Amino acid sequence: KKWVYFFEEGNANMKALLGGKGANLAEMKRIGLPVPNGFTITTEACNAYYENGKNLGEEVNSQIFEYLKKLEGITGKTFGSKENPLLVSVRSGSVFSMPGMMDTILNLGLNDDTVEGLAALTENPRFAYDSYRRFIQMFSDVVLKVAKYNFEHALEAAKRNNGLTYDTDLTVDHLKALVKTYKDIVMKETRKPFPQEPEIQLIMAVNSVFESWDNPRANIYRNLNDIAHNLGTAVNIQEMVFGNMGDTSGTGVAFTRNPSTGDSAFFGEFLLNAQGEDVVAGIRTPKPISELKEIMPEVYKQFIEISKKLETHYKDMQDIEFTIERGKLFMLQTRNGKRTAPAAVNIAVDLVEEGLIDEETAIMRLEPDQIDQLLHPTFDEVDLANAKEIAKGLPASPGAACGQVFFSAEDVVAAQAKGIPAMLVRQETSPEDIEGMVSCVGILTSRGGMTSHAAVVARGMGKCCVAGCGEIKVEEYAKQFHVDGLVVKEGDYISLDGNNGRVFLGKIRTKEVELTGNFGKLMAWADVHRVLKVRTNADNPRDSKVAVKFGAEGIGLCRTEHMFFEEERIPVVRRMIVAKTIEARKEALDLLLPFQRADFIGIFEAMGERPVTIRLLDPPLHEFLPHEDKDIEALAKDMKISAAELKSIVNDLKEFNPMLGHRGCRLAITYPEIYQMQVRAIFEAVVDVVKRLDLKVKPEVMIPLVGFEKELEILAPLVRKTANEVLEEHGLQIDYKVGTMIEVPRAALLADDIAKHAEFFSFGTNDLTQMTLGFSRDDAGKFMPEYRKKEIFEKDPFQTIDQKGVGKLMKMAIELGRAQRPDIKLGICGEHGGEPKSVEFCHAIGLEYVSCSPYRVPIAKLAAAQAAI
Ligand code: ADP
Ligand code: MG
Ligand code: MG
Repeated sequence: KKWVYFFEEGNANMKALLGGKGANLAEMKRIGLPVPNGFTITTEACNAYYENGKNLGEEVNSQIFEYLKKLEGITGKTFGSKENPLLVSVRSGSVFSMPGMMDTILNLGLNDDTVEGLAALTENPRFAYDSYRRFIQMFSDVVLKVAKYNFEHALEAAKRNNGLTYDTDLTVDHLKALVKTYKDIVMKETRKPFPQEPEIQLIMAVNSVFESWDNPRANIYRNLNDIAHNLGTAVNIQEMVFGNMGDTSGTGVAFTRNPSTGDSAFFGEFLLNAQGEDVVAGIRTPKPISELKEIMPEVYKQFIEISKKLETHYKDMQDIEFTIERGKLFMLQTRNGKRTAPAAVNIAVDLVEEGLIDEETAIMRLEPDQIDQLLHPTFDEVDLANAKEIAKGLPASPGAACGQVFFSAEDVVAAQAKGIPAMLVRQETSPEDIEGMVSCVGILTSRGGMTSHAAVVARGMGKCCVAGCGEIKVEEYAKQFHVDGLVVKEGDYISLDGNNGRVFLGKIRTKEVELTGNFGKLMAWADVHRVLKVRTNADNPRDSKVAVKFGAEGIGLCRTEHMFFEEERIPVVRRMIVAKTIEARKEALDLLLPFQRADFIGIFEAMGERPVTIRLLDPPLHEFLPHEDKDIEALAKDMKISAAELKSIVNDLKEFNPMLGHRGCRLAITYPEIYQMQVRAIFEAVVDVVKRLDLKVKPEVMIPLVGFEKELEILAPLVRKTANEVLEEHGLQIDYKVGTMIEVPRAALLADDIAKHAEFFSFGTNDLTQMTLGFSRDDAGKFMPEYRKKEIFEKDPFQTIDQKGVGKLMKMAIELGRAQRPDIKLGICGEHGGEPKSVEFCHAIGLEYVSCSPYRVPIAKLAAAQAAI
């Protein structure tokens, strides 16, 4: 079997066998670029190594030396020879680049003899010993596992004792002494001399690369990035070229375009008289690549040509590693370069305009989740550079925000009313803080994780949030927080970066998002290609407007209960809930109606003629009730009943398992007047907007939590009757739809019966997931990590649809629903609607639309386009 390939024998399509690095070295060689000669030991050899009980095997071993002989032939140098020694690098390279695996070893083949040969041959003993000390350090660190700091300390000491600043200042005598010290370190640490036999060095290095495939860091990295554990790594053995031969030599890294802005100018850094990782190690400050133009104009010119050639060839921005040996340029690596979100957009569009790729490819190039960064405000770079960072928390919700701190929802609301940009700072937030969260510019909490209340709500609102910032000590009662001896008081300015969790003292200017330019172009291309429509989840006119700005094509979920929480409404809501008679309940409902109507008017105005799906009241009633004594007393007074009586009512409403309790359509089965009020409010709003603005609004009324045909059989006519009454009162006739959520598994199983009474289905995949899996979303955090570790499931099913289980129910419901009612409208309104993998699934099973939070609309559109391409 063939285990080894010369670079000449490979190409870019052989990544699985040769690894990314090896395949691209082969490809560069193939298209005539200056690449030092070498060969690749395949990933199959790595897998065989493990199958053989960590043994290279005779065949692999002999092929390695056979190819090494050929390499000697091509280079005219001999491995281990004192006269003209061949030196090589040993470089790991798996299919996906993987930090955490073995580092590269350079200058392999050096020993006490060959170093002399190299010195004589190049007439540059300083260079020879510099290479040797580097080799001993790298080999010992990577293969012999002698900790790096031993050598670093020795190197520092050598510089210090000789009064020198840089490695390059060391003379040949210093370096010779250092080599001796290094060998002593190895002897001391391993109780064996540093291996002098080049062939043994080589085999040890190859074994080490294979060994590193299975080290803990590499395993963790693969787990985090969903990379299979059975791919194996390749090893590249390559003739050395030397950037450390003096001032006409050097090494560096370059990008064919700017990876942070996407600007099309050649970009990079280099160091003269340096080798390997010196550039990234930060010992000396590298120079910008543009300076190469003055220092070595010919090399620079050639490099620009190569850069163009590589880009045209790979049709993407390349990240290149290079070395210059005595004025001659060599390519050591190329790959598609990592880039920021703005750069990704600019590069994709530029490449289309330069004719290198087509629109479809450009769309596929973007990572939908990555463009999230582009949809939120960012800090002014100049201000940011001068800002004072005071703490760091979790990047709970992206964006940048700047405002004065306040420590309660009420204070935030009051500040906002005065036009003050207010930052809500709390230990943690709860549903009672909703109003403050709506009114603030950003949220900072000292407790809670990425799925805390603050984090989840903030993400839904597209509001910047830093959560779990344990360094700050929040004293809500004293209206201040401490951090590291600093006291920040109410009214002081702070700034938050939700992308990385940084907290700054003082003002930093922010920049609003640009949806024009290249981003706009890309979104327009996505619109052409996608089939799925993208709606938004929005409960108020403000979110609706944001969503429309981001291109939402309707509202897929308007939750009416959020409207109940506002300050002036909640007492009325409470009165409605604790009412003992229908009359008392209706009285309270009559007071709520104008509020709801006003909300709907605002939403319809914002959405124009786009469809708006409104879900009737869903949560368990007790969520609205006061729980603290002082609130209960206040409400009792207001309602003219005793606190004790109210308390007992509140207690009666408590449920053991509210998620499966008296909620959703069950509320309306028992209290139909609640839905009647809501429907009346919706249609009075419709009438207003139609008459006043002549907008052809498209309301869709959605009944939640249906599991039985009979429920709909009762409630759908109730909705229609109420709607028609309102319309008739005003002599209007408009089209509207009445439908249901599919979120109780029984409804999915019997979707044909349900469809008799529903003109549309909207999959409520949050509840559908909870009920299908039997997991409470709020409690799953306790066992989720273990479940993922044991691979009981791959992904968090509350983030990515469980296609096998929940997905099966969805498919079944679609089929049954369509069979009953061929023109039934189908959509999804769970959190999954904005998650790219789930969007892809929704496309595949033939939904008409997905719905997600306003700030995820462009992400969903892009994912939908990718699903369709
Ligand atoms: P990594 O995957 O960590 O980037 P590489 O195998 O690319 O490791 O090696 C790191 C650096 O070592 C390269 O960028 C290059 O500067 C240097 N290097 C590797 N092989 C050679 C070689 N044959 N000649 C000169 N320098 C080399
Ligand atoms: Mg590299
Ligand atoms: Mg639900």
